[in-house]
Amino acid sequence: MSSFSTSPGTRDILTPDAARWRKFQDVFAGVVEEAGYGLIIPPMFEDLGVFLRLGEATDVVTKEMYDFEDKGGRRIALRPEQTASVCRAFVQHRPTTPWKVWYAGPNFRYEKPQQGRYRQFDQVGLEVLGVEDPYLDAEVIALASQFYDRLGLKEVQLSINSLGDAGDRQRFTDVLRSYFESHVGELSEDSQVTLTKNPLRVLDSKRREDQKIIANAPRIRDYLSPTAGEHFAAVLAALDAMNIKYVIDDRLVRGLDYYRRTTFEFVSTALTAAHTAIGGGGRYDGLVEELGGPATAGIGFALGLDRTLLACDAEQVFPAPNTDVFAFVVDTTGGQEASLVCNQLRMARIGADRAFDNRSMKAQMKAADRSGAQVAIIIGSNELDAGQVVIRPMNSGEQYSVNREDLVSAIQNEVSKIRSAN
Ligand code: AMP
Repeated sequence: MSSFSTSPGTRDILTPDAARWRKFQDVFAGVVEEAGYGLIIPPMFEDLGVFLRLGEATDVVTKEMYDFEDKGGRRIALRPEQTASVCRAFVQHRPTTPWKVWYAGPNFRYEKPQQGRYRQFDQVGLEVLGVEDPYLDAEVIALASQFYDRLGLKEVQLSINSLGDAGDRQRFTDVLRSYFESHVGELSEDSQVTLTKNPLRVLDSKRREDQKIIANAPRIRDYLSPTAGEHFAAVLAALDAMNIKYVIDDRLVRGLDYYRRTTFEFVSTALTAAHTAIGGGGRYDGLVEELGGPATAGIGFALGLDRTLLACDAEQVFPAPNTDVFAFVVDTTGGQEASLVCNQLRMARIGADRAFDNRSMKAQMKAADRSGAQVAIIIGSNELDAGQVVIRPMNSGEQYSVNREDLVSAIQNEVSKIRSAN
C-alpha cells in the first residue's frame, strides 16, 4: 500500500502550533478591528487575469503562480497574495470609501521551499481604499507596529521609502534603465532579464554580483515631485510624532509594479536565516483601475505568519496558548460517571476532558498529566458509593473530596484560585 506525506513547501500545522496560529490571527484581529477595519474573506482562487494585473515583472506572477484550467475551461489561479483580490472585490461591490478591510489566510507561490519560505504560507494583512492622506500611511504602519508589540516582538526594524508618483517613477525608471544598461555586462543574468521588464526591480535583487552596481545607482529621492516629496515628509513626521523608529532605505522597491509613494518593510533582526523580511506593504496606484474600477488610492500591508512566528521563537515570545481543558476526569468505575461529570462541567462552561476504554488509574492519571489540565477529578468506587469525587490540583495543593452536588462550585473556586495566582 502506498502512503502519502505533504507536498514540498506545505506542512501540517498540528496542536499546539495550530492554536498559536489561531491566537496570532486573533491578536491581529484585535488590533485592527479596534481601529475600524472589517474582515474580508476573499476566495482562495480567482480568474488568472486578476493576478496578472499585479504586473509582468513580478516573480510572483511570472514564475510562481499556481494556475490551471478548471473543468469549465476557465483559467484559474490560486491566490499568490490578497491585495489583488481585495481590489477586485472593491470593483465588484463598490463599497463606500474609505474602505478599511483586513484578512488572514493562506496564499500559494511555487517557490523553492526552505526554512521560512513555503509554497503555501499564511499572511495577515489589511488594505484601505479611497484615501490619499499621509496620516493613513502612518496609521497603517503604526498598526503593524502595535501588532508586533502585542506579540512581544522587540527586534523588528522598519525600513521605509517613497517611490514617488507615476510621473516620478517613470522619470526615475528611465534614468535607472540607462544607468543599468551602461553596466549590463556586470549584472547577473536574472537582473539582465528584469532590466528589460522593469529596471526598478533590479534594485530588489539580492544577488551578490549585483550589489556593487546597485549601491552606486541613482536614488529615487532625488526624483520625487514636490507633492510626492511633501507626502513622504508628512508620513515621516507623523511616525516621528508617534515615536515609531524607521530607517529610510532607497533600495526598497518591493514586489508589485503598482507600488507608488510610501513603501515599507519589516525585518526581524532576531532572525539570522536568509528570510528576515516578516512583512511589508505600501501605497499602490492603478490596481483598482486595471481591474475595471474608478481611479482609487490604495495602501496596505501583509505580514507573513510563518516567518513572524519564527521571529517569535527567536525572541522567545508569544508561546502557544494553554489548553482550554481545565479539569480531567479520571473514572475507575467504568466510565459513565466521567461522562456525567464532563457534561456537567461543560454545561457550566468549564473545559473538561476524560479518558476512555476504562483504562487503569495509572494510565488515566498519565493522560490527565498530558492533557495540560489544572485539576484531576477522580472517581473510584468508594467515591461513587459516598456520592463524592476527589479533586486533585495537578501542580500544587492537597487533594480533597467534595460532594457531587458541590462539584461545579468547587471547580469554579479552583479556576478563580489559578486566575488570581497568574
Ligand atoms: P509579499 O506579499 O511578497 O510582500 O510578502 C509579505 C510577507 O509575506 C513577507 O514579508 C513574508 O513574511 C511573507 N512571505 C512571502 N512569501 C512567503 C513564502 N513563500 N513563505 C513564507 N512567507 C512568505
